[in-house]
Amino acid sequence: MTGKAVGGPKIVIVGAGFVGTTFAYSLLIHGLASQIVIIDVDKERAEGEVMDLNHGMPFAYPARIQTGEYSDCKDADIIVIAVDKGQKIQQSRLELAAGNFELLKQIVPSITEYNSEGILLVVTNPLDVMTYAALKLSGFPPNRVIGSGTILDTARLRYLLGEYLQVDPRNVHAYVIGEHGDSEVPVWSLANVAGIRLKDYCPICKVPYSPEDLNDLFLKVRNAGYEIAKRKGRTNYGVALSLTKIVESIVRDENAIVTVSCLLQDYYDVRNICLSVPVVLNGAGVKEVIRLPLAGDEVAAFQKSAVVVKKVADSLGL
Ligand code: NAD
Repeated sequence: MTGKAVGGPKIVIVGAGFVGTTFAYSLLIHGLASQIVIIDVDKERAEGEVMDLNHGMPFAYPARIQTGEYSDCKDADIIVIAVDKGQKIQQSRLELAAGNFELLKQIVPSITEYNSEGILLVVTNPLDVMTYAALKLSGFPPNRVIGSGTILDTARLRYLLGEYLQVDPRNVHAYVIGEHGDSEVPVWSLANVAGIRLKDYCPICKVPYSPEDLNDLFLKVRNAGYEIAKRKGRTNYGVALSLTKIVESIVRDENAIVTVSCLLQDYYDVRNICLSVPVVLNGAGVKEVIRLPLAGDEVAAFQKSAVVVKKVADSLGL
């Protein structure tokens, strides 16, 4: 962290849509920032959201929340990119690439004109391609450009496994890696509860160990975004809480392990692309990329996911 913000962390959110503002609300009620600045091309929308958020202040942790300009990025510790060009619900995340890349080409240089020491946190889809774009456009070191990635998919998997096994999802250790999108990969070989692999844990909790059931459960994870969007138009709560956990890990210098998208240099021969794997995250950003001992089929699926993302990045000339 830059540590330059007066009185505590300063967080700038670019994009006052469903995700950006739900995240701002979550930041407020978790007391994680002393300053929150919201920037949007739709200034009225940003103003309305800021007014509404500020009216909750007597019941939350003290924070200064305001609308702003890119010059307000100056001493920000974290700048979150949550913009969108206006997507159709049924478009796959990767189909959104060209439009949102155009936005990032305007936004990232506007941020870096005023800030060279903060952490960029990308949430705009297609997440991995946009994270890579932000890395290239900013020139920031790779440890300071992060995409929310599969932290959300991992949370969905832990929640659903918790339901299946009847244990608190916080005690389920399982990861989704690769693309935040259709080619993502569940790491079943390492999934465990209390250090016990699922195959051995299922009999303990008297639930059948069924690879078919587990696969159905993963399909629910993979399709969750589409299923939620079909019903309510957008997803916002799960992702906002995921972003909150990422920010908490940074501002509290936690060394927390989270699955986020970041530049991979050589991860099972995957290199020069942003994808999610578990990392150690602290005040400096990504401290360590954790190399999971994956099973053979998981390595193959992960490499396939990288090809899918790379193809889109290449098509944008990245
Ligand atoms: P939204 O349409 O509600 O909000 C997007 C906001 O971006 C709007 O307020 C719009 O005015 C603003 N915007 C557009 N162009 C801008 C510009 N040039 N400068 C500043 N602001 C600009 O969208 P949303 O539901 O909040 O989603 C935001 C993004 O997050 C989307 O790309 C969505 O796909 C993505 N998303 C990612 C995850 C994840 O897990 N990574 C989860 C949910 C949504």
